Formats: sequence, C-alpha cells, structure tokens
Amino acid sequence: MKIFTSSDDISLSIKGLCSDKQSVGFVPTMGALHAGHLRLVQQAVEENDLTTCSIFVNPLQFNNKEDFLKYPSTLDKDVPMLERAGCDFLFNPDYEQVYKNKEEIRFNLGQLDEVMEGKFRPGHFHGVANVVYRFFEIVQPTRAYFGLKDYQQYLVIKNIVAPYFPGIRIVGVETVREESGLALSSRNMRLSPEAYASAIKVPSLLFEVRELWGQMPVTEIQAWFADQLRHIPYAEPEYLEIAHADTLMPPGPGDTAEELRVFTAFYIDGIRLIDNISLAKYS
Ligand code: AMP
Repeated sequence: MKIFTSSDDISLSIKGLCSDKQSVGFVPTMGALHAGHLRLVQQAVEENDLTTCSIFVNPLQFNNKEDFLKYPSTLDKDVPMLERAGCDFLFNPDYEQVYKNKEEIRFNLGQLDEVMEGKFRPGHFHGVANVVYRFFEIVQPTRAYFGLKDYQQYLVIKNIVAPYFPGIRIVGVETVREESGLALSSRNMRLSPEAYASAIKVPSLLFEVRELWGQMPVTEIQAWFADQLRHIPYAEPEYLEIAHADTLMPPGPGDTAEELRVFTAFYIDGIRLIDNISLAKYS
C-alpha cells in the first residue's frame, strides 16, 4: 500500500494509474480502524480496480473540542489492517493539504441538518459535507463507501454532496456489530470495562423498539426508551427518533416499517455513541 500525505501527489497518481475504464473505490475514515471500516474497504476492493482509503480527523466536523482532542489515533495499527484488506492507496493528509486556501462551502442541508445529529451537533454536517467534497475533488472516485451506522451522514453525502459529482456512486454499507449487538465504533475504545458493560445493553433496547412500533404512540416509545436507558449505569439518553429513511421526516399515517428507521444518540460515561436500525423486522 502506498501512503500519500500530499493531495496533489495522490490526485496525480490516481489519474496516472487509472484509465477512464478503470474504477476507483474510495473509503473516507477518521482512523482508529475496526472491522466496520474494514467491511467498507473489503467491498471497495471487490468492486473496483483501485481502492483508496483516507485517514483524516476533520476538525471542521467536531462541535465539541474535547471530543476532537480525545479522538483516538492508531495509525501504526491502521496501516497493516488496510494492507491486509487489500487497500492500494492511503491518503493521510494534514489540515493544510485538505483545505489549502479553499473557501468553506455553504451547503443548503435543509431538513437533514435540523434533526437528530444536525440538531444536537450544530455545524457537524457542514464540516462533513466540506471534507467529503474536498476528498471527492482530490480522489475523483468511481464509487465512495459510507457506513449506514452514520445514516444521517450517508443521506447528507448522497443527497447534498454527491449531486455536485454526478460520476460518483454512493454506496451504503450495513452496520457491523459485535456479537453483543453493539455497533463497532472508534469511540468504543474510550469506554472503561464498566462503561462497556453498560454500552452493550443498549442495542437490544433499539431492537425492542421494532416490536413496540405500531403498538403505542411514538412519544410513549421515546419515554419508555429514555426510562430504560436511565436504569443502565453510566447511561444518559440524548434522543430516540423514528423517521423516514429517505427524508428523516417524522412518520406519517400509512408509512410501513420498511420505510422507517429508528435512531438514537446516548452517552455512556460521558462518551457519545449513536446507532440506528430499520424498523422492518427481517432486515
Ligand atoms: P469514521 O472513521 O467514524 O468517520 O467512519 C468512517 C466510515 O466507516 C463511515 O462511513 C462510517 O459510517 C463507517 N463505519 C463506522 N463504523 C461502522 C460500523 N460499525 N459498520 C459499518 N460502517 C461503519
């Protein structure tokens, strides 16, 4: 695997190596890699002639400075993991290389920025959209891979950023979970053993929401979920929402479980985790 820190160098290398007929798969990450990230890389390797991964902790998307400063960095472990997964190029730039003297773009994020992660992390999707836009300019991939674990981010990329790059296909990849059900996340590395024991209790509550959907009003489901979380040591709920999978609008009469997803953000011992699943029982 070739490692690049310069945006010009990686752009030129990709253009030099790939003819118009060859495909480039791209997996943007913030590092501290785990099997969830690697699932994206593996799919990119299977579907493309050349796979590029990026590791860049993007300050623009952190609304909480402490969260940015404490974001784990494990580059020494990440590199061999990517090599084993068959990744060809790693782009590991600094801030200057990504943003140079470019002006920040003001995207119209609409409803996607007003609910859930948009509401609780002001400016987050502005930062995400800007960094992905820059990466798309630099890498010019054929396909770009995003995890459905960050479902709202996937919609922001698909609906807001990708239309500027009609040649790029956005591929959503299912969430990879531990056997306990806990969605893999780089932030899990920061959990103490006691906090981890609490975190693994949350996914089953999310799966229970599937059963409760249709049996009680959403507000009662939300109250039930918050109450359950408060009984788990170290846990603090932030939100639980049921929303339309394409628009994130609230459910309307006649919406089927297949069209809806349930989303949550919660704190475990001060560490913020998110998760979401489809409401369809056999998805
Ligand atoms: P991050 O490094 O957290 O920015 O994540 C990089 C990419 O990996 C994003 O598209 C995430 O949605 C995806 N990702 C993170 N965790 C998982 C997971 N458990 N399963 C699938 N994809 C994931």
